[in-house]
Amino acid sequence: MDGTDSWGGLELSKSIVSAIIEMGYKAPSEIQAASIPWMLERRDVVAQAVTGSGKTAAFGIPMCDVVDPNSRDVQGLVLVPTRELAQQVTRELMLIGRNRGVGVIAVYGGEPIARQIKALEKGMSIVVGTPGRVKDHMNRRTLDLSYVRMAVLDEADEMLDIGFADDMEYILKRTPGTRQTALFSATIPGFIRGLIRKHLNDPRWIQLVSDAKGIETVDEVDQIFYDVAGQDKPDGIMEILDEIDSDSQVLIFRKMQVGVDRLAKGLASEGFPAQGIHGGMSQTERNRVMNSFRDGSLRMLVATNLAARGLDIPTISHVINYDMPENIEEYVHRIGRTARMGKRGTAISFIGEWDFELHETIVAKIGAEKMIKRQFSFY
Ligand code: ADP
Ligand code: MG
Repeated sequence: MDGTDSWGGLELSKSIVSAIIEMGYKAPSEIQAASIPWMLERRDVVAQAVTGSGKTAAFGIPMCDVVDPNSRDVQGLVLVPTRELAQQVTRELMLIGRNRGVGVIAVYGGEPIARQIKALEKGMSIVVGTPGRVKDHMNRRTLDLSYVRMAVLDEADEMLDIGFADDMEYILKRTPGTRQTALFSATIPGFIRGLIRKHLNDPRWIQLVSDAKGIETVDEVDQIFYDVAGQDKPDGIMEILDEIDSDSQVLIFRKMQVGVDRLAKGLASEGFPAQGIHGGMSQTERNRVMNSFRDGSLRMLVATNLAARGLDIPTISHVINYDMPENIEEYVHRIGRTARMGKRGTAISFIGEWDFELHETIVAKIGAEKMIKRQFSFY
């Protein structure tokens, strides 16, 4: 054992503290200071804090601290909704656990399973995965979850929504009943309360967003809205992209995969450096596009909701809702891809014919004082 050290008042293994200092984390963020003590006390936790506030390390630090790096059993399990988020969370946990020798592996679809099996055979302390592939490994008996001590659902409300709820049930059932469970998200809508009661044991609630409305965006993001008819959206996006600085990094959301392809192509043919990403592409292609967006060589990314949650690319200056999302939670997550950890950012939303109701909800719940209404020159 390597003894303990203090990091902003939190007692952690020396090797963990040295690693997070090397990462440039001088002191805990608010959500880290609030949740890490309860995580270390092995309490179940439901933690809600705005986008970009450091939730990954809020569970990553205690998880890397709690697991025994010398054991060959999987003791930490993190479930996330997308492959790209699995990659990102894995990278962060690897960095946090690096000096302690904590083995972390990402397990997700679209990549040859043999490579993951080989890595799992080495004995990994922490598995970060998407539900489908995690189940696949469990069924092949290449992943044994019967020694899991800490399970975390990142983007918890999406993990407990209908798309994943059965998978969560299946996976959590096959971990020990004595495990610690923690949920993290920027949004905790009411519908998951029943599932929280089902999967968690007397959880400690940590809510760092407005209690009254239960939903909050960061102050550093300008939220601009344009009314625009569907047929005029192509003109609208041109007007906006022509106006913004040429060194901006822009993430544009569309509803459908074909829409992503069409808009990315259209922008590229107008001379804008844009590419698309969505679930219909091969993982090799997705990795190529995401890596070039991360390293800044790609300036404009058109995406489906695949990119709505969790992705941390601090250089993104603008998020554009070319098509509005389905609900206010997805709106909060999408615009949360900019203005992270105190940085400033701009979110621009196109209010089409079908979006008035959602727009009203956004104004009512997030606050009219945070909204800026603008008009296109062609109206
Ligand atoms: P969230 O999950 O809350 O959206 P992330 O975990 O993705 O936020 O963290 C947002 C950014 O903040 C990341 O770039 C991360 O490296 C950085 N970060 C996290 N914790 C700290 C800290 N204690 N000090 C400085 N930067 C931090
Ligand atoms: Mg996150």
